[in-house]
Amino acid sequence: MKTSKLNADPNPNSRRLFVAGNWKMHHNAAETKAVLDELRTQVDEIQHLDLAVCVPYTSLAAAVAVLDGTRIAVGAQNVHWMVSGAFTGEVSTDMLKELGVRYVILGHSERRELFGETDMHINLRLHAALNAGLLPIVCVGETAKQRDTKLTRAVVSSQIGGCLAGLDAEQIERVTLAYEPVWAIGTGVTPSPEDAQGVHADIRQQLHRLFGDVAERVRIQYGGSVNSKTVAAMLEQRDIDGALVGNASLKVPTFRELLDKISP
Ligand code: PEP
Repeated sequence: MKTSKLNADPNPNSRRLFVAGNWKMHHNAAETKAVLDELRTQVDEIQHLDLAVCVPYTSLAAAVAVLDGTRIAVGAQNVHWMVSGAFTGEVSTDMLKELGVRYVILGHSERRELFGETDMHINLRLHAALNAGLLPIVCVGETAKQRDTKLTRAVVSSQIGGCLAGLDAEQIERVTLAYEPVWAIGTGVTPSPEDAQGVHADIRQQLHRLFGDVAERVRIQYGGSVNSKTVAAMLEQRDIDGALVGNASLKVPTFRELLDKISP
């Protein structure tokens, strides 16, 4: 049970379960307002979770307005490392902060695969986000081919090393990591909770080597086809501290059903 893990933690609040929705390129501003207007009325009693929705840039302002004063934080899905300049298509940390954005997803596999982002880019974005006081969610995970060739742990370890380069112990505590096997995203296929736990435990060991005991306070979400049927078993694992949820977070009934399955 999660409780024993939390009791063993020197700072019980530091690894509060954290569920974030990743809306990708779904829901314009009007749709965002409608969905979040409904969601906000349904989460008051869900006190044991930190909650966020990471919406498209054009929906950020609407999301912040609707969720003002609620328990749901707003996140973006990327951010550039420069303060301003000739970077067509990018947005800066200041632009996100001006809107009241709190979280930012970095290094999602769709950014890596479709837009050529590397660990170096993600590392630059991560430093900028932390320096600006945003809370990053950094995604790592292997492809199906890498899994099939038994490269999962090597790939994830290399991504962690590259993405987190140059961070110190104070900074890593403000980072959430998300282990998202690429083959599980949007496919309905997931690793077994035990297999996912194995990767999460490896990640935490690597954090210990890199940053020391603060590793016990870093949240590591699982992401990839999480829904109301899969979420409980995943989140009961020792080193799985929440979920990054794509499809199942887009509509209130499915998101609510998923949240209901997570026991304190
Ligand atoms: C994601 O893309 O971050 C994700 C977890 O998607 P899904 O839940 O739809 O697999």
